[in-house]
Amino acid sequence: MIVNEQEVRPMTLRLFNTLTGQIDLVTPADGEAVRIYACGPTVYDYGHIGNFRTFLQVDVLRRFLKLTGTRVRHVMNITDVDDRILNNAAAAGISIGEYSGRYEKAFFEDMDALRVERPEVMARATEHIPKMVELVQKLAAAGAAYQAEDGSWYFRLAAFPEYGKLSKKDLSGMEDGARVDLDEYEKDSARDFALWKSAKPGETSWETAIGQGRPGWHLECSAMAMEYLGESFDLHTGGEDLIFPHHENEIAQSESVTHKIFARHWMHVRFLLVDGRKMSKSEGNFYTLRDLLLKGYKASAIRMALISVPYRHQYNFTFEGLAEATSAVERLRTFCKRLTEGSFAPGENPKLQAAAGKAQTEYRSALANDLNTAEARAPIFDLLRAANTAMDQGELKAGDRDAILVVLKDFDAVFDVLEDGDAVATQRALEWAGQEGRLSEVAPELLARQGLTDAEIEALVAEREMARKQRNFARADAIRKELADKGVVLEDSKDGVRWKRK
Ligand SMILES: [Zn+2]
Repeated sequence: MIVNEQEVRPMTLRLFNTLTGQIDLVTPADGEAVRIYACGPTVYDYGHIGNFRTFLQVDVLRRFLKLTGTRVRHVMNITDVDDRILNNAAAAGISIGEYSGRYEKAFFEDMDALRVERPEVMARATEHIPKMVELVQKLAAAGAAYQAEDGSWYFRLAAFPEYGKLSKKDLSGMEDGARVDLDEYEKDSARDFALWKSAKPGETSWETAIGQGRPGWHLECSAMAMEYLGESFDLHTGGEDLIFPHHENEIAQSESVTHKIFARHWMHVRFLLVDGRKMSKSEGNFYTLRDLLLKGYKASAIRMALISVPYRHQYNFTFEGLAEATSAVERLRTFCKRLTEGSFAPGENPKLQAAAGKAQTEYRSALANDLNTAEARAPIFDLLRAANTAMDQGELKAGDRDAILVVLKDFDAVFDVLEDGDAVATQRALEWAGQEGRLSEVAPELLARQGLTDAEIEALVAEREMARKQRNFARADAIRKELADKGVVLEDSKDGVRWKRK
């Protein structure tokens, strides 16, 4: 049975738009699917939790759209050529493909561990060079690009008077003709930026109609977004650090050629702090997903923590917060198990029916309101408390269980923490640590726990049973302790012994 189906009408997402500075509706211009371009990773290193916060918040976006019956066509780029990749690959003495391939693989493993849905299209920069060359040619024809003495191509900022409209920066003092060829450059200086960089000796490059070289970072996103989504599309996402110059440059490159609005709506995910400070390697507060998994934190808890603060709020990552997320996931899973495995008398409890309907409506409304994940979580936990109390008192009926399960399904369509895939993610991280010689970073409890396979645990449980039958209680207790030390909890019940990993 679906609760209050009439009340749970598809909701239209209202989302802050950096371009207009207001909350706008997200609708598909073509009436079919919301076309989304998301700036993806530069695969030169392992992703850190700030990167994953952005990808997770975009995951919330796409999942909520789908939950409300909206189709999405979501494209994400993989930047597999840039200054850092070229330098690091050269230093390691390997090709850029080999170098970036390693980190691209790691990126997808991490995304899977965090259960981030794959976009409909993943586009590697190096596989779209002809499209980028074509765009430079069009820009040159429009008078918006020029070639410098060294063969590199630059975008002429003076050709695009709207430059700055996304970041709202006052760029009146910008110097005509001043150039920059770094992919990432200083925040407050607008310069003619590199579209195409001529090949330096020994560097990986492509022989093309505009010369031998490689694309700049900004160019790839414009070319690939338009390739897969058309000249004008619905929504562009990225971290707040990309607003300027990257997204401003994407707009300039695209609109100078098409004279159409590039993306109608821009969603930017705010930065993450760690213990109230900027995360940085030099501060010693820099964490990749793998660092946290090796410390013994579960992937589901990391997902929960990174999405529970709405995308427009700065998120302050702390280990207390991660512990809170761990227990929140645990409570949800225990509740779901109790509900699905329990037996309940037929019928409905009107109070619980009303509570379930209210929770579902509030949950969806909160997400429809600028993806407010914190407000969306609250009614779910209210319902959990009410239902647990009713179960304790024998007042929860089969019809209520069904109604609550519908709400949980809705919740999990976006939050996706109920199914337990944590052991697999942790196991993968441990195998990786073994290969990379990083086992010394693994939390001792985790190593101990991972020391036992299911079969080994079963064997110890059986041995303990035998010891108890033989009244060898010292041996039985020793086995219980050994299992407990390795994170395995035993529960004796009238039906026998059950075990679970902590
Ligand atoms: Zn981009």
